[in-house]
Amino acid sequence: MGIERTFSIIKPDATLANKTGAINALIEQSGLRIIAQRRIRMTKVQAQQFYAVHSERPFYDELVEFMISGPVVVQVLEGENAIAKYREVMGATNPAEAAEGTIRKLYAKSVGENSVHGSDAAATAAEEIPQFFSEDDIVG
Ligand code: ADP
Ligand code: MG
Repeated sequence: MGIERTFSIIKPDATLANKTGAINALIEQSGLRIIAQRRIRMTKVQAQQFYAVHSERPFYDELVEFMISGPVVVQVLEGENAIAKYREVMGATNPAEAAEGTIRKLYAKSVGENSVHGSDAAATAAEEIPQFFSEDDIVG
């Protein structure tokens, strides 16, 4: 708790649908601050390493291919209780189960192409942020 940082990705379905700004508006309306942001194309190795925890799941190859299918926007978000708060703003993994007003309810196409990633715990955020940002990139 307290002021935390979390790692966010706006996924290719959302960047290709021109939803980067709409998603950033929802993030900022929630009180979270975007303290680092970069639009990139993930390499296959980056996507494989980022989702290594899911490497035994049946959807892993499809997930990696999806994450490199278009540009993504990687971000660091900061705020009170940022990790849990962003998970709330995102909504459930499966958009069919996501609450009204959440990013995934509004924009996600499917459980796979679900518009955003957010760290699920403090330890995960601490591992994920340095995969894409150095401290110099982050302006809190
Ligand atoms: P979350 O992103 O909500 O933390 P998970 O960590 O369980 O969800 O899964 C990581 C990502 O893998 C999801 O955001 C989604 O893109 C993809 N994914 C999860 N479950 C499935 C599934 N059943 N079929 C296809 N892709 C999935
Ligand atoms: Mg997850």
